[in-house]
Amino acid sequence: MRNIKDYDLEELKKQFIDLNEKAYRAEQVFKWIYTTNTTTFDEITNISLELREKLKKQYNLKSYKILKKQESYDGTKKYLFDLSDENAIETVLMSYHHGYTICVSSQIGCKMGCKFCASTGIPFGRNLTSGEIIEQILAVQREENIKISNIVFMGIGEPLDNYDNVLNAIKIINNPKGLNIGARHISISTSGIVPKIYDLAKEKLQCTLSISLHATTDEKRSKMMPINNKYPIRELIEACKDYIKTTNKRISFEYALAKNNNETLEDAKRLVKLLKGMLCHVNLIPINKIENGKYIKTTNENIIKFRNYLNTNGIVATIRRELGSDIEAACGQLRRKNLKNRGG
Ligand code: SAH
Repeated sequence: MRNIKDYDLEELKKQFIDLNEKAYRAEQVFKWIYTTNTTTFDEITNISLELREKLKKQYNLKSYKILKKQESYDGTKKYLFDLSDENAIETVLMSYHHGYTICVSSQIGCKMGCKFCASTGIPFGRNLTSGEIIEQILAVQREENIKISNIVFMGIGEPLDNYDNVLNAIKIINNPKGLNIGARHISISTSGIVPKIYDLAKEKLQCTLSISLHATTDEKRSKMMPINNKYPIRELIEACKDYIKTTNKRISFEYALAKNNNETLEDAKRLVKLLKGMLCHVNLIPINKIENGKYIKTTNENIIKFRNYLNTNGIVATIRRELGSDIEAACGQLRRKNLKNRGG
């Protein structure tokens, strides 16, 4: 039985017609689910009891149980959600002066194998469905009694490796009758799956695309990110240029600085050369330590020097504020949990 939150409005309308129901009923149900954040069909009181019973036989309205909630000294919160199979995933809520940003997971585990990231390495589970992506937002809104304003696909998983479900979730998020959060408030981060970047460009969404670049030579990048063996830097940058041309949107490049690895003036010079003339922005991140990870953070002075070099050479760069590292909620620190032996 599928979760009703897996369907965008158009698809739900089609299904209602197949069920011999009027399309506008689908719209009523859809709107009710996302505006009231209900967890049971019984509460959808703008439709008949009969239809509610029919829907119960057809779909579920599964909501997440919070297995664990942690709060950082900086206010960042991390949730461990029970997916009610053998899996659990993590989601992070950050509070900024302009509102709440949620960092959602798109897969259970990750196949990319980046050496500095805790989300990978453990055997891959599966893709999250659109409803499971959406439910992270709904569950946090329910728990905290807030309205989330920004969404970043920077949790566990590679969003472009779960392309269809992520795009479908974005449709539900965008829909004024759904979560009603504009595409401009959504960022998708990718390790660089080149063909999917071309596909995404054609969708002409207003979302921000973030590219996890992290290095400026193929030798270094392949060591950090195995995906680079398949899609090397030159191909990645070409895809980014196509994305900018097609969408007219600025790309954000993520660059996590690690000691004795990618922090030198030579690296900064190569980065300038690589990105010169592109409509882009560089986000510098002090690399976060992960268990058994060999990369260590560079010094603050080095990050500032690196940023200043980029800025004085025509590349807009900022240093990302580090949030939630004390509760392992910072970039790269999220991981799937296997509950196979739950209760044990
Ligand atoms: N798979 C996607 C999205 C998840 S990672 C991607 O690769 O972009 C979200 C961001 O955190 C990416 O920019 C990623 O490179 C970065 N990241 C991963 N591990 C990190 C670490 N240990 N320290 C700092 N940033 C990290």
